[in-house]
Amino acid sequence: MEFSNLQSLYRQVIMDHYKNPRNKGIDKNNTEYHTVHLKNPTCGDDVTVAVKISNGVVEDIRHEGIGCSICCSSASVMSETLIEKSVEEANILTNNFYEIVKGEAPNEDLDMGDAISYAGVASFPARIKCATIPWKAFETAVLEINSQK
Ligand code: ZN
Repeated sequence: MEFSNLQSLYRQVIMDHYKNPRNKGIDKNNTEYHTVHLKNPTCGDDVTVAVKISNGVVEDIRHEGIGCSICCSSASVMSETLIEKSVEEANILTNNFYEIVKGEAPNEDLDMGDAISYAGVASFPARIKCATIPWKAFETAVLEINSQK
């Protein structure tokens, strides 16, 4: 596929997640979820991610917030990519996502799903934080859950 076609396919995937976000909406009364709130002041992104882990598996991820299309769509993609993965695998996928947005070749052994679409973000360094902030929120939630044990 030509580079420009690939870029336009990636853009379509990102816009689809932006317009039809998966796993959006947090039930604040549900104590089974651990919630992390992060902001990206340079862009105005404001994201809350709620993570439910049981027996070492990411059972559910919910998200909500306001922000640019890169950030909001990335929260949707992150939830879809990481739900039902083991916590260990989810951390590996998260680290691979950080490599993808920096322009590194994705690890083809990993099931990155739509997250692969953020490879184009590497051309816009100012937007890298927009793409990674929901994943950072997930990472932070896992660290906080583990430190509570
Ligand atoms: Zn942003």
